[in-house]
Amino acid sequence: MLSTDLPTRVDVAIVGAGLAGLAAADRLRAGGASVAVLEARDRVGGRAWSDQLGRARFDRGGQWIGPGQDRLAALAARLEVETFATWATGDKVLDDGDKVRRYAGDIPKLGPLELAQLHFALRRIDKLTARVSARDPVGSRDAAALDSRTVADEARRLSRRVRGVFDVAIGAIFGVDPAELSLLWFLAYLRAGGGLMNLSTITGGAQERRFVGGAQTLAERWTAQLEVPVITGAPVRRIAHDGGDVIVTSDRGTLAARAVVVAVPPPLAAAIELTPSAPARDQLVQRAAMGAIVKLVFAYERPFWRERGMSGEVVSTRGPLSVLFDNTSSDGAQPALVGFVQARPARGWTGDTGPAVAQLVRWFGNDAREPTAIAATDWCAEPWSRGCPVAVMSAGALTTSTTTLRAPVGRVYFAGTETAVEWTGYLEGALESGERAAREVLRDL
Ligand SMILES: Cc1cc2nc3c(=O)[nH]c(=O)nc-3n(C[C@H](O)[C@H](O)[C@H](O)COP(=O)(O)OP(=O)(O)OC[C@H]3O[C@@H](n4cnc5c(N)ncnc54)[C@H](O)[C@@H]3O)c2cc1C
Repeated sequence: MLSTDLPTRVDVAIVGAGLAGLAAADRLRAGGASVAVLEARDRVGGRAWSDQLGRARFDRGGQWIGPGQDRLAALAARLEVETFATWATGDKVLDDGDKVRRYAGDIPKLGPLELAQLHFALRRIDKLTARVSARDPVGSRDAAALDSRTVADEARRLSRRVRGVFDVAIGAIFGVDPAELSLLWFLAYLRAGGGLMNLSTITGGAQERRFVGGAQTLAERWTAQLEVPVITGAPVRRIAHDGGDVIVTSDRGTLAARAVVVAVPPPLAAAIELTPSAPARDQLVQRAAMGAIVKLVFAYERPFWRERGMSGEVVSTRGPLSVLFDNTSSDGAQPALVGFVQARPARGWTGDTGPAVAQLVRWFGNDAREPTAIAATDWCAEPWSRGCPVAVMSAGALTTSTTTLRAPVGRVYFAGTETAVEWTGYLEGALESGERAAREVLRDL
């Protein structure tokens, strides 16, 4: 439950009330431990954040659930949060900077040679993915060679237009340019999430369904039901081992615990002073950098794209928006589109939504000119996330480290979607990581 009182002593203190921290709290409580969750923001949910726009509540952060995300589906059922299918009926649009073309199916409209090239590249990535372990990428065959390359190296042979579409897909999944990604880390991520096409598609893929009332509803209902105090407005600044205790210092006071679970993104974990220090972990965490995404929801009076037989899905190799989806509310009462500005344009985001609306007009005509409301969320400007959707690893980082993001340091344990081995980077991964960290704590205590 939400609380303003920080207890003075618990068995386990949890830092962060995202889905990872809440999953750890739930499992630890069920295991008989006394628990408190300290959350920096004045709300729970972290990267799951939902807000009213026009006649419905929309997601500023994570919003989709797909097949194979079984923990997330079970949690939604338990908390009675319904899901509904993402609208995917009608033609899609590819804007390659020169021309706007409509197409049907999962692969954008390209020439026959370009299509063959894209299929070949996807097959090669699938083959490489099958060779890499999500749990132990460094133990995979040829790990050092794969880690010395970036995803851009892999994409270099593609023609300009195919490369453009590929870069958009990478930007949408990670919020970075392919040159920023270790190939080994990328393949482990794909392995954890069922492959590149699975992560890129709506029907049958990771974008298949949405939560009625938004994904943050999960965190809100869970917090209300948990028999654990969740203290908001309590950023943790310092975690110190002190004899048999671990002392947690936050802006709301100090707490003694037998163990601590840090369930925050790696760059936020790095900002917490750890005593004694853990240099190997610190070096690795410095190489896990958040992606950059600005998420824009556009509300309209009418779903004019549906009326024209269009699904609302767009891939654009020219910014600022790179991808777009239908985002109409579950009851249809609030027609909407959702678009993503990713990587470099997100880092240079000024708050001017005019160029994005101009793109919508280019794709759908004059009906798109006057959204009734726009919600733009610049995740790079969120101090308790520092970017999104996930922290990524650059070339060489994994294989030159002597530790992992999830290896405990003394009695400090690490959760958060970045530490997951299933659906890393996703809401499902956050749950998996929290459950795993809780198991480690219960075993060691
Ligand atoms: C725009 C966007 C789109 C996304 N799309 C999807 C999607 O469609 N489907 C999907 O599955 N995933 C999606 N994701 C990713 C998904 O939201 C995350 O994987 C998931 O929410 C991460 O949960 P977490 O608990 O690991 O971390 P977080 O949700 O980041 O939780 C960490 C919490 O720790 C708090 N915190 C940080 N530092 C401190 C501190 N020092 N002291 C106390 N508290 C602290 C933060 O405020 C936060 O509440 C998206 C994310 C974004 C932002």
